[in-house]
Amino acid sequence: MLKIYYYFIYNKLGGTTMKCYVCAKQGVDKDAVAICIVCGMGLCLGHAFKEELLVKDVIDWGFGEERIEYPHTLPRFICAECKLAREQRIRVTKGKSQT
Ligand SMILES: [Zn+2]
Ligand SMILES: [Zn+2]
Repeated sequence: MLKIYYYFIYNKLGGTTMKCYVCAKQGVDKDAVAICIVCGMGLCLGHAFKEELLVKDVIDWGFGEERIEYPHTLPRFICAECKLAREQRIRVTKGKSQT
């Protein structure tokens, strides 16, 4: 009986279910469906960004290299903050590409 009671409390507090960090900051209780690969925060469907990474290989044939891009991409989840931070870095490196 006591065990069931504790289980109920545990569940009411969220239990093992991870919550969306962005929503929690705004006082919204929403379950996380993904985790940001960079910072590790829990994200709901609305706050998770899915990126598709190309799977590439370079094969050295001896007389030249062949670059292969495979049809299936690697999915990964990222939050808005990390996405922004990453994109800003890409922009900076692109601008400095003359060096
Ligand atoms: Zn959210
Ligand atoms: Zn993140």
